[in-house]
Amino acid sequence: MNPVVFHLDMDAFFVSVERLRDPSLLGKPVVVGGGRNERGVVSAASYEARRFGVHSAMPLRNAARLCPQAIFLPGDRKAYSHYSREVNAVLQQFTPKLDMASIDEAYLDMSGTQRLWGPPLAAAHKLHEAIAERTKLPCSIGIGSSRLVAKVASDQAKPNGVLQILPGEEAAWLAPLPVRRLPGIGKATEEQLAKWNIRLLGELARLDDRFLNTQFGKWGVDLAGKARGLDSGAWFSGFIGKEGDPRSISHEHTFTEDSSDGEMLDATLVRLTEKVMRRVRDQQLLAGVVQLKLRFADFTTLTRAQTLRSASDIDRDVLEVIRRLFRREWKAGQKVRLLGVQASGFSSPDAGQESLLDADSNERRRRMLKTVDLLRDRFGEKVVTSAGGLSGDHQARVHDQMQNDFENLPNRGRKKQSDK
Ligand SMILES: [Mg+2]
Repeated sequence: MNPVVFHLDMDAFFVSVERLRDPSLLGKPVVVGGGRNERGVVSAASYEARRFGVHSAMPLRNAARLCPQAIFLPGDRKAYSHYSREVNAVLQQFTPKLDMASIDEAYLDMSGTQRLWGPPLAAAHKLHEAIAERTKLPCSIGIGSSRLVAKVASDQAKPNGVLQILPGEEAAWLAPLPVRRLPGIGKATEEQLAKWNIRLLGELARLDDRFLNTQFGKWGVDLAGKARGLDSGAWFSGFIGKEGDPRSISHEHTFTEDSSDGEMLDATLVRLTEKVMRRVRDQQLLAGVVQLKLRFADFTTLTRAQTLRSASDIDRDVLEVIRRLFRREWKAGQKVRLLGVQASGFSSPDAGQESLLDADSNERRRRMLKTVDLLRDRFGEKVVTSAGGLSGDHQARVHDQMQNDFENLPNRGRKKQSDK
């Protein structure tokens, strides 16, 4: 049976919510993130504003220069969270196997739901209608045999559309698209590839693995695999809901702009560790080995793995090791392009690796993390932080990271990150 993955992405989410509350904004260029003279950055722009070159993460003042007629709004995180939960509630009706990837997008594993919802395209239209009915907000849905293809498809389906890429058609469909369409390829990679005259995904897909390996390392080989529609590499080979027997679980984050901000880098490590360990717990496993992945601005990539003193499913244990590995490899001021956290070497919790001394306090922490996991099930991965699962001094940073997930609302003067 072919896997069927949906990627649902709300269209200009913040702007759409604002328009629900004030219909006079319909059809007009709207910028959410702050006043036109404020120092912050754009967190969302309507399609009308994007036509003038306005995009998220751009300084508000630049946006005002490009599109002076735009209406500037401060944004309302409470309202966006509310609608995010509404979206999540609709998704839950279609499948429990879902992952809120951010406040306004989700992956759904719809494999084997044919009897319940009909063929994938019909199911997607029902979902599209259900979202519109409950939230009155527009969204787009991509259907593919993998997360990667589904995500690219939803982007191509915008606005307010549904697009299915049939199994076997992935490579041919991706080929004519610009390389930038692929999650994980940002401006820097785009420029790097352009030096080799590679501008389309089909051109990237055709490259020889050996050439890619020498030019970009394993990462380049993975990238070409993605350009052929294969799900290689961390996030996109991840799981949706419960599945059996993973060999490793990992999450990666590519910064929109290379960062040397120690606090932001640390907050990202916290988030990645949380996501990975959440899945480890979902699978009822203990991780024996953890690995840090670090890619610098010049594309040098290194991975450092370490065996845990005792296998664990607790964020804190893993984070401690990840931080140590990071501190060993990163010098202040160095610009980082990508961070990744991976867990492997799994065993099951009843195999007795836990020392008796730790057992009691670990049990308490485990219960707390379970509660956090449940909240995340309800409200989405990024809406709830597991600050409670970490010691006090990390709470502020986790909270900080959450701000980023809300795409800089209200203005924090911080650059936007995306999980691309
Ligand atoms: Mg969106």
